[in-house]
Amino acid sequence: MSQGADRVWSVSEHLANILGQLAPLDPIELQLLDAQGCVLVEDVTVPVALPPFENSSMDGYAVRVADTRAAAPEHPAVLEVIGDVAAGSGVLPTVGPGQAARIMTGAPIPPGAEAVVPVEWTDGGAGSGRATAMTAHSVDPSGAAGEVRVHQPATAGQFVRARGSDAAAGDLALAAGTVLGPPQIGLLAAVGRGTVTVRPRPRVVVLSTGSELVEPDEELAPGRIHDSNSYALTAAARAAGAIAYRVGAVADEVETLRATIEDQLIRADVIVTSGGVSVGAYDVVKEALSSLGDSFGDDAGSAAGFVQFRELAMQPGKPQGFGRIGPDRTPLLALPGNPVSAYVSFELFVRPVIRTLMGVGAVHREVVRARCSAAIDRSPEGKRQFLRGHYDHATGTVTPVGGAASHLVKALAHADALIVVSEAVTSVAAGTEVDVVLLD
Ligand code: AMP
Ligand code: MG
Repeated sequence: MSQGADRVWSVSEHLANILGQLAPLDPIELQLLDAQGCVLVEDVTVPVALPPFENSSMDGYAVRVADTRAAAPEHPAVLEVIGDVAAGSGVLPTVGPGQAARIMTGAPIPPGAEAVVPVEWTDGGAGSGRATAMTAHSVDPSGAAGEVRVHQPATAGQFVRARGSDAAAGDLALAAGTVLGPPQIGLLAAVGRGTVTVRPRPRVVVLSTGSELVEPDEELAPGRIHDSNSYALTAAARAAGAIAYRVGAVADEVETLRATIEDQLIRADVIVTSGGVSVGAYDVVKEALSSLGDSFGDDAGSAAGFVQFRELAMQPGKPQGFGRIGPDRTPLLALPGNPVSAYVSFELFVRPVIRTLMGVGAVHREVVRARCSAAIDRSPEGKRQFLRGHYDHATGTVTPVGGAASHLVKALAHADALIVVSEAVTSVAAGTEVDVVLLD
């Protein structure tokens, strides 16, 4: 267990070590809307042609082509309107020579008809003397419906959506591996799938530690601060695709923290803590979790696991804990407490964990090269530094926002990128190219 705990880890080593111990969650069947953002694990084929029947793409009149061949504004074709066909109509009139059926968008093409004449190309049946208000689902295959004057000839198939013109029965609708966004969910519904088999979103439990912490709507007693980490990290977990549960702040008491984590194991695929991981007197996470090999889960020896606390060559975010605990060997990431450190650590380590468990291909944030518009005078040697910045896409430049200190939450909230100053670099001249991690 001390193996690796007493040396300095690079950012990449720590991340690789974490991800190397994880595999995507087992697939489950979910209701369509619960599957948003998830990875499909089955090939979905189209069971019935889309659209399932020939239908009209316009409001107008279903006609026979021959009847409109000579139609022109000065000598319109005059057709007998034999009834209405609304979307959803199951009973259809047959359109014979010299006849038309009034038809609505999406309604089935009635037998005999070969094309649709849009209502704009007609007099709208104005001369018919029949009330022409269209009612939804109205079908009037028999009613004496008067006449319509058609001013333009129709060509065969005009404004008719052919059966299967979107997808044929047996077509592959979506392949396994597809991430389900809104259009994909729409397609699944269109082909009649109410549920799908996907990798679920990981359930991420977020808890912060610190006896100084109070809820945002509580008044601050002397020495107290509002708990911001549990909010930022819960929101970040959601943004990464997880189902996130925010557990409030836990006091700096070893037994309370252990009991809280133990209680949360039941609903967690990942546990994220903040604070209490450095070397202070009340660094409760470290104290509670370093020695938990025998305290989590029933089968202590095999299933309990442990959390290893490491020093990373990184700024901010030097102290990090990772381990797998409890009977299910649930991954736990213990992040440092300073709000900027916690958030940067989340972006670098927790977000890839969530994305790995989801099985999506895009595990990491996009990294681009950009010119740094201002000089960075001092960057710690031997550490990978992540400064907050604003990235300007148009000019390909990034501008530092706020300083390097890890308590600067306001600057963090006005940044949209992390400027990466690599381990060997101790200063950056204005105009130099740097790596930039784009945050949404
Ligand atoms: P720690 O790592 O617990 O020593 O915390 C480091 C610093 O971050 C201290 O100034 C804490 O007060 C602050 N801090 C820890 N947790 C939170 C939190 N959840 N919200 C805001 N600040 C925090
Ligand atoms: Mg603390």
